[in-house]
Amino acid sequence: MLNDYDYLILGGGLSGLHLALSLEKDPFFKEKKIAVIEASSKQTNDRTWCFWENESGPYPHLVSHSWPEIIFKSPYYSDTIALAPYHYKKIEGAAFYAFAKAQLNCDQIQAKVEAIIDHDTAVEVITDKGTYTAKKVFSSILDPKILTDQTQQQYLKQHFIGWFIKTDTPVFDPTQATFMDFSIPQKGNCRFMYVLPTSQTEALFEYTLFSKDLLEEADYETAIQAYLNDIGISQYHIVAKEKGNIPMTSYNFAQHNTKNIIHIGSAGGWTKASTGFTFTHTLKKTEALLDFLKQHDDLRRFRRKNRFWWYDLVFVDVLYRKNWLGARIFATLFQKNPIDRIFRFLNDESSFKEELAIMWSLPKTEFIRAAFHRIGALFR
Ligand SMILES: Cc1cc2nc3c(=O)[nH]c(=O)nc-3n(C[C@H](O)[C@H](O)[C@H](O)COP(=O)(O)OP(=O)(O)OC[C@H]3O[C@@H](n4cnc5c(N)ncnc54)[C@H](O)[C@@H]3O)c2cc1C
Repeated sequence: MLNDYDYLILGGGLSGLHLALSLEKDPFFKEKKIAVIEASSKQTNDRTWCFWENESGPYPHLVSHSWPEIIFKSPYYSDTIALAPYHYKKIEGAAFYAFAKAQLNCDQIQAKVEAIIDHDTAVEVITDKGTYTAKKVFSSILDPKILTDQTQQQYLKQHFIGWFIKTDTPVFDPTQATFMDFSIPQKGNCRFMYVLPTSQTEALFEYTLFSKDLLEEADYETAIQAYLNDIGISQYHIVAKEKGNIPMTSYNFAQHNTKNIIHIGSAGGWTKASTGFTFTHTLKKTEALLDFLKQHDDLRRFRRKNRFWWYDLVFVDVLYRKNWLGARIFATLFQKNPIDRIFRFLNDESSFKEELAIMWSLPKTEFIRAAFHRIGALFR
């Protein structure tokens, strides 16, 4: 049948396109009939992904900038940190979408998915352009209602607006990214500025919160303006803007998987709950998913909770209940731990010994209280 596939990938963003590219690269899947269904044309640069790496990943040719140093600033501790052997790297969403679309041989269907029904022997995907069927479905479509309507797990948002600005005179150092600058009014929250200079005259300024509630758009923009003013930048043009609202939660996304439908990307819980970083986790989870598909049929068996899930749970718990502690917690983390240990920890790659060192460095009362408070979640 024309509309019948082995694998249907829903959503052609980061996780959907990376999964499609990975499946096509792996000879094990060469007989599979695959399609990606994406609602939008994906021609705009709707986001930029940054991530740290100590070696080359799968898309070195798409990296548009890389920083050997990061700056951390707060009222408690500030430093410029050399990242070697790591680099902090950037890929533009638009470059990734264009590359993936040109590279892929599978069907690429522009349609809006309206319903996904697992009939046990096959999955039916109803779109505004027709109905498709598949043996297995990989969905990166996140329904925000599953998070807002649940009370199982605490749910914070990483929300931000960013301005890409250009100045008339050289003012930036493009070798240093400001990872977190907490020296801005916290207003009872965890608020920081994230600055990515890509040349002496170009930079992205992102006013970011890890908190429960979104702000009015004007609040983010006024804060960026005030920050630029404080650092003495008054002559600039805004070249582009981006905004985001990334879920930070240990919610069990996998409960929505069925035998033949699995959720991937942020919709599958592949966003690191404590930081919102998703890019590296998507690469790693995709690799694990391909291995899994070679051996298993029932997609419900893919996800296992591990100790990193639990660390994130505790971290989000602390930040959820005492949001104003964010600046102090991150300052302590960066002050008391070498950057390679922090990066390994945030990539879920650290050893237990390193994790103990990190936990020992954090404000103990809050974390011990949260750990006991959330211990029951281990069994949910
Ligand atoms: C502005 C921004 C900046 C970010 N920066 C970083 C960063 O620097 N580092 C990092 O690690 N993470 C970052 N993230 C978080 C995360 O990496 C991205 O959100 C990432 O794109 C998530 O991948 P995904 O595949 O889960 O979702 P997406 O990339 O959003 O893909 C989902 C796709 O599904 C499509 N879709 C939705 N509904 C339907 C429907 N009904 N029918 C068909 N298609 C549909 C969407 O159009 C979209 O293309 C950022 C997020 C944003 C928003």
